Formats: sequence, C-alpha cells, structure tokens
Amino acid sequence: MIENLIEIKGVKHAYATASGPLPVLDGLDVSVPEGSFAAVVGPSGCGKSTLTRLVAGLMKPDEGEVWLHGERVRGPRKTVGMAFQNPVLLEWRTIIDNVILPLEIVAPRMSRADRIARAMELLEMVGLTGFENKRPSELSGGMRQRASLCRSLVHKPDVLIMDEPFGALDNFTREDLWQTMRDLRRAEPFTTILITHDLTESVFLGDQVIVLSGRPARTQYVMQVDLPDDRTLDVLYTPPVADMLHIL
Ligand code: ADP
Ligand code: MG
Repeated sequence: MIENLIEIKGVKHAYATASGPLPVLDGLDVSVPEGSFAAVVGPSGCGKSTLTRLVAGLMKPDEGEVWLHGERVRGPRKTVGMAFQNPVLLEWRTIIDNVILPLEIVAPRMSRADRIARAMELLEMVGLTGFENKRPSELSGGMRQRASLCRSLVHKPDVLIMDEPFGALDNFTREDLWQTMRDLRRAEPFTTILITHDLTESVFLGDQVIVLSGRPARTQYVMQVDLPDDRTLDVLYTPPVADMLHIL
C-alpha cells in the first residue's frame, strides 16, 4: 500500500471577525499518496488558501487533524515548499541568487558552489539556462513564475503547495508551465497540492481532483484522474475527458 504523505481528516476552521466567527471549512478530508499530485478546485472564497495555510502549518485548525509524513503538523516545516500567484522575487538579487535563497536558510553549511549547481540543474529543467545572472525585472511573468518554482523546489521539499500559481498568466504561457510542471515531476517526483479554479488545469496536472464547495466548505467529492502519464493537452479535448470536465 502507498503511504499517504498528506492526510487531512475532518478539518474545521472558522476565522474570528469583528462580527463573530466566520466558519470557512466544515469537514475537509484529503489524502495525498507520496509522489502524487492532488488538484483542489472550488469557488473563490471557499477556503482553498486557508487549506494551504493549514497544511503548511502556518495555522492550526479548530478541529480535525493534518498529518505530513506520519507526523501531526503543529507548526511551519522546512520540508514544505510553497508557490503563489504573484511570486515575490527579490529585485536586488540575480535569478540564481533568488533560487538558492532557501538553501541559505535550510542548508547553511552547503557550499556556494553546490548551491549554485543545484539551482542551475532546476533552471535548466524549466528552460531558464542563460538567465541566471539577470534581475527578476528583466524576465517576463512566465519566466518569473518558472524561477520561483525553482526556488520552491531547490531544497527538495517533500511537499509542494501551490496556490493558484498560474492564475495571472496568459493562456499560452500557462499551458507551457503546465508542461514544465509535468517535466519537473517526472525528474523529481515530489508530492503536490495544487489549488486552482481552472478545471482543465486540475485534470491535466492532477492524479486526483478534490472538489470543495458549500458555505462553509467541505470536501464534496474526490475524482481519480485516469489518464496516461504522458498525457498531452489534446487528450483533454477528447469526448470522455471533456465529459469529465463537464461533470466537475
Ligand atoms: P479561497 O482561497 O478559496 O478564495 P480563502 O481561504 O482565502 O478562500 O478565504 C475563505 C474565506 O475566509 C473568505 O470568505 C475570506 O474572506 C475569509 N478569510 C480568509 N482569511 C481570513 C482572515 N485572516 N480573517 C478573516 N477572514 C478571512
Ligand atoms: Mg485563495
């Protein structure tokens, strides 16, 4: 049996607001096997970003449990990488010096040469070789997102949590990045939770799609994606998959 790297059981959470508690999550169940890719979809405001904060250990749920690698999550962890819609790259640092940043924190004894070698390996995988000495402002939005993905992965986190990372990109750039994500995962099979409101993206990237809805939200259903590993975008436009997207 495959171990579930991420296990979220019966999670409930409410925010304290001036007008009283605002219940956001009311029964969240998510299991992500090691090395697999879970796409979480749900309408805006349903608690998706809240879910990422709970898994990353940045917040504690009111009820229920979050487990990572067989350990109860009680605070932030170095083994979690995060990616967001608007990545903050440090403008005064070059791309390579942005990418190695997590290594400076989690692997202070690693030599600079080793850090750079690791970062260059990732930059090559995402097609940014030759841009390592540029400043972030010299790169397009898609390239900045690629660089920030490298930064999220440079320290080999067990888990990558992505909160609508491709939401601000145009369609062509977004589809390129989907392909890059698949390539990266083939090279380094990290476990991923991707938050998205794009159903096509959820099915193209996910091994399972978890649907949240309701107010407060709960896990409505979980769909296993039964598509080949070398899937292309074309496969999503064939009738069975198009039907699946329709049902979602
Ligand atoms: P999503 O990412 O799905 O759009 P969020 O998890 O960001 O949803 O937010 C869910 C709900 O909780 C929203 O109604 C939002 O306004 C509210 N919310 C989020 N963060 C806070 C907070 N820190 N304090 C109070 N309310 C919050
Ligand atoms: Mg959000």
